[in-house]
Amino acid sequence: MAILDRAIVRLLPAVPRPVVQKLSQRYIAGPELKDARETVRQLNAQGKMATVDVLGEEIKNEEEAAAIVRAYQDVFADIERCALDANVSVKLTGLGLNLGYDVCRANLETVVADAASRGNFVRIDMEDSSTTDDTLRLYRELRADGHENVGVVLQAMLRRTVADIGALAPLRPSVRLCKGIYVEPHEVAYREFGAVRANYVRALESLLDAGCYVGIATHDEWLLEQAQQIVSERGLRRDEYEFQMLLGVRAELGNRLVRDGHRLRIYVPFGRHWYAYSLRRLQENPKVAGYIAADTVGRLLPGRSNGA
Ligand SMILES: Cc1cc2nc3c(=O)[nH]c(=O)nc-3n(C[C@H](O)[C@H](O)[C@H](O)COP(=O)(O)OP(=O)(O)OC[C@H]3O[C@@H](n4cnc5c(N)ncnc54)[C@H](O)[C@@H]3O)c2cc1C
Repeated sequence: MAILDRAIVRLLPAVPRPVVQKLSQRYIAGPELKDARETVRQLNAQGKMATVDVLGEEIKNEEEAAAIVRAYQDVFADIERCALDANVSVKLTGLGLNLGYDVCRANLETVVADAASRGNFVRIDMEDSSTTDDTLRLYRELRADGHENVGVVLQAMLRRTVADIGALAPLRPSVRLCKGIYVEPHEVAYREFGAVRANYVRALESLLDAGCYVGIATHDEWLLEQAQQIVSERGLRRDEYEFQMLLGVRAELGNRLVRDGHRLRIYVPFGRHWYAYSLRRLQENPKVAGYIAADTVGRLLPGRSNGA
């Protein structure tokens, strides 16, 4: 990333919220369930599956966490009623992890049980490395209690990930493998681009060796090539893995995967707590400096297009 882009990324939290909201519209279905429903319908019509995320990591109390649980129950009911091809993704902070492990566990169990009653599935997103132990512990506890309709996420940037795969292997977990979005200290994470890629390939091979179902979540063309080669060499059927991408990111690459006969699931966030998610997506967008500069010029010079 160029120096100007890096500077803008650091300054993003100082950018006014309405500007962030406008720039991040492409990454979020909208504030309401009906917005997510419409987006999922369109994706399904294009031959893509979806995973619906109720935005909510900024919650402050148990009532807000309970509201997120109810929102997920509404999502499951809607998916069933509209016969959508979608599951859900949850963030444990949205379900109250920062309020207490037991609060979060009770909320997660409610969501997972509701999903099971409707034949649906819950993917637990992975947040920053301070939450990894609790996240994997919760996952194990749910599996030990007999919940099979739940999966986790592992991050290739973390040094511990291949060891985590080894420890989880007897459970044959369903795993989404991603690079990892959070800024982590050098002691726990690979920082160098090539090292993260190499660990991604290592982790993918380890997961497939362990017989896991993998959601290969990336927009990195090199990794997509590697992954297609790996699944082809192993002779995997198309229902034995899937690719995953984020709403609003590199849709043309996703279309190519679908045309080539792979299954693709798109991550569809919706809801009123859009801010933290939007910041992370904008920080990853290589054109963010240009967008913000254009938006600023647009606001300073009335009548000019904002370019967003
Ligand atoms: C379905 C899905 C679920 C995810 N869940 C998690 C999770 O639970 N925990 C977690 O830590 N991370 C998660 N991530 C984010 C992931 O860790 C990466 O940060 C993100 O996918 C970018 O990495 P990349 O593999 O696409 O490679 P990169 O090298 O970062 O990107 C590859 C290409 O995609 C383009 N690109 C990437 N992001 C954007 C963007 N926002 N706007 C425009 N272009 C972009 C880049 O320009 C680049 O050309 C998820 C990603 C996906 C696809």
